Amino acid sequence: MRPHLPGADGDALPRWRPPGQCAVCRSWDGAALCRWCVQRFAAPVARCSRCGLRTATPTEMCGACLQDPPPFDGCVVALDYAFPWDRLIADFKFDGQVELAAPLAARLLDAILMARQPLPDWVLPVPLGPRRLAERGYNQAWELARRVARGLGRRADARLLERPLDGPQQAGLDLARRRRNLRGAYVLDLSRRLSLQGRHVALVDDVMTSGATLREAAAALRRGGVARVDAWALARTPAPGE
Ligand SMILES: [Zn+2]
Ligand SMILES: [Zn+2]
Repeated sequence: MRPHLPGADGDALPRWRPPGQCAVCRSWDGAALCRWCVQRFAAPVARCSRCGLRTATPTEMCGACLQDPPPFDGCVVALDYAFPWDRLIADFKFDGQVELAAPLAARLLDAILMARQPLPDWVLPVPLGPRRLAERGYNQAWELARRVARGLGRRADARLLERPLDGPQQAGLDLARRRRNLRGAYVLDLSRRLSLQGRHVALVDDVMTSGATLREAAAALRRGGVARVDAWALARTPAPGE
């Protein structure tokens, strides 16, 4: 296979990359993501510990959360959904570059450890509907969740929370529509519901946009008797104007 030349397909990062070459700067650091790019693009920033949006200083609850508290007790966001992470996440998610799961999960694990929030009993991915899972072949949120759980010594499970139907695509819809579409989308595995009763669960997703998905999944867990729900997202779309 011939490598694409950088820039040959417009703005996009070249798809093909030999093992050991950094996916961002193409240096030979022996990793899919080199330590310089991590230092440069994944430097920790202050965020609200309830919604993950950037704040001037580390904040328990930002103004937006005070007005409309999210249904999570804690929230950890590792990265802004911006260069180079938007492209890497797209490659990981839509282009089958599963080798990016480990370096991306490492960013989330770092952010969780730095946030010093209480650790959960269970780490669960936001589930995909059956059609999307079959198309993609894997749930990107599970690829992150199981690695993060292993790093924390916590239990992870891909099936305790399920999405029995796919539902319409959410992209391009306003928040009210997104929430309406998702109502009742997530359900607990009834046969194992007791294992979550009174427990602390962290929900993992790759990208948090409006937060509608994580909110709906959190609501399903609460209805099932989960005592505390945290939201952990690899990246969050910055608020308008950030
Ligand atoms: Zn690099
Ligand atoms: Zn907030």
